[in-house]
Amino acid sequence: MRSGHADRLRRALLFGRLPAHAGNRRHPLPAGLCEELEQEYCWVSMRSEQQVAAADGSLKHLLRLHDGEAIEAVALPGTTAPSACLSSQVGCAVACTFCASGLHGVVRNLHAHEFLEQVVLLRRARPLRRLVLMGAGEPTHNLGNLANALEVLRNEGEIGPRHVMVSTVGPAAAIQRLAELGRRFTLALSLHALDQELRAQLIPTQAHVAPLDLLQAADAYAARSGRAYQLEWVLLGGVNDSNAQARDLAAALRGRRVHVSLIRWNPVAELDQLQPSGVAQAEAFAARLHGAGVSCRLRLTVGGDSDAACGQLRRRAQLA
Ligand code: SAH
Repeated sequence: MRSGHADRLRRALLFGRLPAHAGNRRHPLPAGLCEELEQEYCWVSMRSEQQVAAADGSLKHLLRLHDGEAIEAVALPGTTAPSACLSSQVGCAVACTFCASGLHGVVRNLHAHEFLEQVVLLRRARPLRRLVLMGAGEPTHNLGNLANALEVLRNEGEIGPRHVMVSTVGPAAAIQRLAELGRRFTLALSLHALDQELRAQLIPTQAHVAPLDLLQAADAYAARSGRAYQLEWVLLGGVNDSNAQARDLAAALRGRRVHVSLIRWNPVAELDQLQPSGVAQAEAFAARLHGAGVSCRLRLTVGGDSDAACGQLRRRAQLA
């Protein structure tokens, strides 16, 4: 195969096309070659087994992997550029007490090609220009494979680092390792609580981590990348949504280059002792941050009618 053919083929694949559609009118691929490539090779190792559309316009895919495991990837309704939320692992080792993804620990890391295939399969339904690594798994636990996949997308897939957001629970050393990749990804930090004891209840595997150290590591990341970071705060009724907690958060964020993303907790069937913040309380929390000059956005739900919270579609498929 000539190298020009290989380049066109790789590019076409990254945009969701099969070898037969890899060439163009001026540079067609030889017909025999296309046929051989399609018959002899497996181009995508996973398949989209189920697609669930939500009222907010997001489209969630349940993806079946070659070894029978399943992950989720979601095409999000685009405000500016069409975006998607990808998984980084099968399951998750972080085990946040409110999250469906970590209910049964981590099964395995995704390979670099499995990151790319999520993009490929979603692109078959919709164009895609931005990524958030906020699906199942902890991206920093699989940073090598993720970084390799993101390099391919940067070079040949038309998704550059500025259009990629990587979400992590920490610790500070994980944020540092992300910084050391030397790419200007936007950082999202899942904080959820400023008080170390409360955060330890929400994320027991991070009990040793001081939230203020995380904020400092995120500041350092932002200084190096030149990009503000995002703080994730899942609003749980009676847990981390009080007026006092909003006031303390606003005080801690004063002077920092940060945007806060508040989301009311999406209920998970197995976790029935928890509840989302009431709408009025969530709005009051957001208003307090706003009032103190903190940039913030409240999402009441994202695809809440389609098992959209992390890991829920996969969980349902396991139970079925
Ligand atoms: N492990 C990474 C990325 C995956 S989770 C991280 O924690 O940042 C992406 C975000 O979804 C995190 O902020 C997580 O706390 C949040 N999340 C998990 N379960 C949720 C639920 N049931 N409702 C709302 N947000 C949830």
